[in-house]
Amino acid sequence: MPYFDYNATAPLWPEAQEAWIAASEKYWANPSALYRLATEASRQLELARGWMAERLACSPEQLIFTSGATENVHTAFYSLAQVLDKKSASVALSALEHPCVKAAAHQYFPGRILPVLVNKQGVLCLESLESLLKTRSISLVAVMAASNEIGTLQKWQEARQLCHTYGTKIFVDAVQWVGRLPSEALGECDFVSISSHKLGGPRGLGLLKLPRDLSSPFLMTGGLQEQGKRAGTQNVPGILAFLAAWQCCQLAQEQAAYKQAQYRNQLVSKLLDQIPGLRLLGEGAPLLWNTAAFLMPAYEGIRWVRRLDQMGFQLGMGAACSSKQEKGSSQFSFLNEDPTSFHRLVRISSGPFTSVLEWEALTDAFIRTWESFQLPR
Ligand code: PLP
Repeated sequence: MPYFDYNATAPLWPEAQEAWIAASEKYWANPSALYRLATEASRQLELARGWMAERLACSPEQLIFTSGATENVHTAFYSLAQVLDKKSASVALSALEHPCVKAAAHQYFPGRILPVLVNKQGVLCLESLESLLKTRSISLVAVMAASNEIGTLQKWQEARQLCHTYGTKIFVDAVQWVGRLPSEALGECDFVSISSHKLGGPRGLGLLKLPRDLSSPFLMTGGLQEQGKRAGTQNVPGILAFLAAWQCCQLAQEQAAYKQAQYRNQLVSKLLDQIPGLRLLGEGAPLLWNTAAFLMPAYEGIRWVRRLDQMGFQLGMGAACSSKQEKGSSQFSFLNEDPTSFHRLVRISSGPFTSVLEWEALTDAFIRTWESFQLPR
């Protein structure tokens, strides 16, 4: 089944499944307990944390395991909100951000959210960020490393430099970046959010990088797991499967970046040629190697997705978590399009080993679908 919805969730790597089964047999004990069975589970947990810390060029003590990226952002925003002035502390973010980032900002910094502009290609505008940092007192800036919806790569390294020049912390949502592109420079960002299932690990697991100097109350309280920063018994087998998945991505990423971008570009140029009025979002901007998001010239995205599903292809209509809702007009406000046009959004996102045959078959399926929609009923 050609699966083209990796930005929604990636299938579990077989290596991750094996790691999970093996760890469920060997390392199932509670890692906080004190007998040898438990201390071995705890050792495996720390080995996983150590490997991940190397990938992010940070110290293992700065990493905590969580239930996913949604918890990561709530933890970071909650912790900061506890130590900042409740009346004046504000956060800055753009329309590109994932709904979980927007929701956390509204929950913990109500009425104190400043917008960073995004250009027409879907790239965060650094000039807008700098002018905000210069003129307003901002405690935290949230930047998505790569857009889950349209695949545009954001200038988070430049944004980090700007934030640190003005003494502001940066939260980087690296959910779609890690496992696809080099991650070492992320260690210099204050907060970094990663989700296991987006890189082919199990669902319900995440990793959050925290700044060294954070000594705030934390969101998940109770036991003293994760150095007292995140209560709850750690899911060691899940974390070892997450590690195996990340290691697989690490090995595959360089070749995948080259090949998948090439196959994606071939599909894009053929579809732009064959389907009049089709629009590629983020055109001309640097894109994730696996993503292409289109505004179809006619018919709702749902109609395209259903027809292509009947032909054996799974693809999305932007963020999976909001695909059952109305596409809000503010979500893509930067594109200067009629808001109703976003009902025509269709997103393709491949995996590291999606074959050229699958890409070609998808290209043909799009063209056949378009032709069938043109036929008189
Ligand atoms: N951030 C981005 C960019 C995402 O794509 C997603 C997943 O949809 C999330 C955050 C939320 O991730 P999770 O499912 O781990 O809570």
